[in-house]
Amino acid sequence: MTRTDLPTATRLRQVIHRPQHVRSFELTSLRWLRALLRWRPLQFTLIVVTLAFFVLAILASLFGTPVGSRNFGIIFVWIVWWALLILVLVPFGGRLWCAMCPIPAPGEWLQRRALIAPTRWQPFTLGKRWPHRLRSIWVQNLAFLGMALFSVIILTRPLVTGLLLLGLVLLALGFSLMYERRVFCRYLCPVGGFIGLYSMASPIELRVRDPEVCQKHRAKECYLGNERGFGCPWLIFPGSLERNAYCGLCTECLKTCTMDNVAIRLRQPGLDLFVSKGRGLDEAYKAFIMLTCALLYSVVLLGPWGALKDAADMRSFGGWASYALGFVAINLAVVPGLFWVVTWLGRRWAGLEVVPMRRLFTDLAYSLVPLGLMAWVAFSLSFVLVNISYALPVLSDPFGWGWDLFGTRDWPWTPYAPVLIPYLQVPILLIGLISGVYVAWRIAGEHTARPQQALRAALPVSAFLLAATVVLIGLYLG
Ligand code: SF4
Ligand code: SF4
Repeated sequence: MTRTDLPTATRLRQVIHRPQHVRSFELTSLRWLRALLRWRPLQFTLIVVTLAFFVLAILASLFGTPVGSRNFGIIFVWIVWWALLILVLVPFGGRLWCAMCPIPAPGEWLQRRALIAPTRWQPFTLGKRWPHRLRSIWVQNLAFLGMALFSVIILTRPLVTGLLLLGLVLLALGFSLMYERRVFCRYLCPVGGFIGLYSMASPIELRVRDPEVCQKHRAKECYLGNERGFGCPWLIFPGSLERNAYCGLCTECLKTCTMDNVAIRLRQPGLDLFVSKGRGLDEAYKAFIMLTCALLYSVVLLGPWGALKDAADMRSFGGWASYALGFVAINLAVVPGLFWVVTWLGRRWAGLEVVPMRRLFTDLAYSLVPLGLMAWVAFSLSFVLVNISYALPVLSDPFGWGWDLFGTRDWPWTPYAPVLIPYLQVPILLIGLISGVYVAWRIAGEHTARPQQALRAALPVSAFLLAATVVLIGLYLG
């Protein structure tokens, strides 16, 4: 990545300044936090911790007991990590997980020939640039869908989980050796795709304090790197950053910026959903896939249909093939198709025919983000609270070989607050619904100055969101 990739001065001048009325609190104004975030070994330290758990998870999955509930790999990846990710890190910290994710670490260290600070050595990579036509999250969408098709098998078979985790590390390593910086995270990681989408709803953002300072500062160290740190691994120029979607919160730019112009702020959640620059059909489809998968998982795993569970579990190849076909069709055609219909109805009713249909469809799809995130939170609660007590026994006996390292091996399985779960799920889904309706109304308002037109354009989409919420509540209460 070179200086020629930087946005032009004209483009930088176009960067939308935050409206004055939007309140935020600059977390990096706290001296101790700023010092911590600028501490060179911070990311390395976090990654070493997660990498230790990750390696143990891979080893336990590959060589430990095939009984999922006794295997560290299954319990720590799909219950503990998942709970941390979807219930805490993504809703409150956006891409915070990406700052400590162990998957790209071995490849990145090898590529940089450094563990902590930049060295004088040339990067160990062919340094190829990612092809222009693949600069979107379509690959991530397909990768996530591909994983989702096998999810029941992945979630219950330790060996499959182990091979998947190992495969992801090796893939990230291969891409680090072939391509510049973190191309794997930016364009390929199936997890990173949805974290990026939902990070736009987060109450945390990394932005520059004053885009004009970036415009005048010729060194552009945040992008190109300097002796204090690496150029943005996510191929982003922070000076024009307006959405969280592709900032991995690695804190490099906080360290490299000699103008002290980078800040992390606490802000009103979801602000990025109203930034029209950067919206695209690939992200819209990510929103469809995520909401649809939350719905389908709830049907398959929580519903009373045993045959469906058997099909998803690949009890017979024919059954699984039909399930897979239906799963893909609902994700890529049925749900987006229904959304197209409600968008068309709203556009017609509001008399907004001047707005291109594809544009309105893409824009309004961002109203699925709050509901999708809350649907995943609600769905995850249903199995996290019930199964989290397995974590203590597998800590003592990660491979299921009879060890008792911390004396917790025989800790009994204890489902926490099972009767309370629906009472948590319903308000969570209602928060998602209300936020989604608000986002739809605000986005519709971007296309007209007349409030009544905006309301009409948003109403059919709101009915769609309501229908999805009713189905989810029905499944959780049923
Ligand atoms: S994008 Fe994926 S591999 Fe990269 S840091 Fe985030 S979760 Fe990890
Ligand atoms: S913008 Fe800054 S914090 Fe975000 S990925 Fe780039 S260097 Fe890291």
